[in-house]
Amino acid sequence: MTQASPSDTSTETTGSAALLERARAVTPGGVNSPVRAFRAVGGTPRFIASAQGPWLTDVDGNRYVDLICSWGPMILGHAHPAVMDAVQQAAARGFSFGTPSENEVALAEEIVRRVDPVEQVRLVSSGTEATMSALRLARGATGRSKVVKFAGCYHGHVDPLLAAAGSGVATFALPDSAGVPASSAHETIVLPYNDVAAVEAAFAEHGDEIACVITEASPGNMGVVPPAEGFTSALRRITREHGALLITDEVMTGFRCSPAGWYGLEGEPDGGAPDLFTFGKVMGGGFPAAAFGGRADLMARLAPDGPVYQAGTLAGNPIATAAGLATLQHCTPEVYDRLDVVAHTIADAASVALAQAGVPHTVQWAGSMFSVFFTGDEVRDYDGAKAQDTAAYGRFFHSMLDQGVHLPPSAFEAWFVSASHDDDAIGHVLQALPAAARAAAAG
Ligand SMILES: *Cc1c(COP(=O)(O)O)cnc(C)c1O
Repeated sequence: MTQASPSDTSTETTGSAALLERARAVTPGGVNSPVRAFRAVGGTPRFIASAQGPWLTDVDGNRYVDLICSWGPMILGHAHPAVMDAVQQAAARGFSFGTPSENEVALAEEIVRRVDPVEQVRLVSSGTEATMSALRLARGATGRSKVVKFAGCYHGHVDPLLAAAGSGVATFALPDSAGVPASSAHETIVLPYNDVAAVEAAFAEHGDEIACVITEASPGNMGVVPPAEGFTSALRRITREHGALLITDEVMTGFRCSPAGWYGLEGEPDGGAPDLFTFGKVMGGGFPAAAFGGRADLMARLAPDGPVYQAGTLAGNPIATAAGLATLQHCTPEVYDRLDVVAHTIADAASVALAQAGVPHTVQWAGSMFSVFFTGDEVRDYDGAKAQDTAAYGRFFHSMLDQGVHLPPSAFEAWFVSASHDDDAIGHVLQALPAAARAAAAG
């Protein structure tokens, strides 16, 4: 087992490099989700062989403190004993039945218990499926087709939700991806985040065509950009006035920002709760499980009770639901307290190190979810996030990686911690920060 020391910038990566070459022959870019390819920071993505608690071990035997945590799901840390036990017991009873099973009921009950306005959920297998289905339900319920989303918010790779960018008011977006038909993108109105006037203007022009506004409950996919005071309430008021639905995407924030996600922290918007919620990540405990839900009268529009079709061969998979249920059951108040301590200790130390090295930066929060922007200005929207010095982040990232800390390989991501990050793991991060900050400064 080799452990890179702070001065060692030549971590052995021949095993990862060889696997990347093999992977490239049979998989586009060698990865099954683009961010994993390290294109934003350069270098060789590490192929992880195993993980335990807050630690990742790659195929070359390097160990890293994990600040990705599978992009959120591993809130309890890797291979948590109680989740492991639940998974092993579920697996011993069979892998998938294609019939209803009890775990599905128990997981749905746990979600409904935690998030007050959610009376019913439908389980799916990914966050993408959750937002795609919520969108279809909103369109089916309103009989309208247009969708409002915000630049910088990610809702999975759903055709009409991949449209992004396009500043200014009521920009009819161009597809952000090849393969998204213009007819689909033209149903999407992309607006700047935290801009109530832009939402008012879009509804003034297209109000009776808009099925819904979808927003990240508190955006984390352009870095962490919480809603400005009153923004969520404004969305609630404007959608109500025009007979549109409000979908809050809690795939990232759900069960992480608080026991009831961002909703639990911010509370009910003036004028009432969002109509639909989407969940994923934490609620699957590292397995493919996600959900969308809301009021029972709205959910009743789904098949088999209603006309909006939605289905899934592996939806509510017994192993995934066992992992998700065990994870949520172990997300106790003590776990949320620990997440706070871990996040604040790491973020504060990062901020001190960057300040000492003279690197402009801003730390932003949504509960214990945070990110470090490499810009000195507060970030309120996607344009603000894009003003970052991404090259400085790349140098910072690689210095941390060489010192055994695995940050997200992009400046536009939250840093995820777990309750398993103990003082040893935190100490390891703290020790690495000053050299990484100096590397960031040495542009
Ligand atoms: C991750 C994420 C999704 C997509 O979830 P997948 O499981 O990757 O399909 C959707 N919305 C938000 C807010 C996310 O963070």
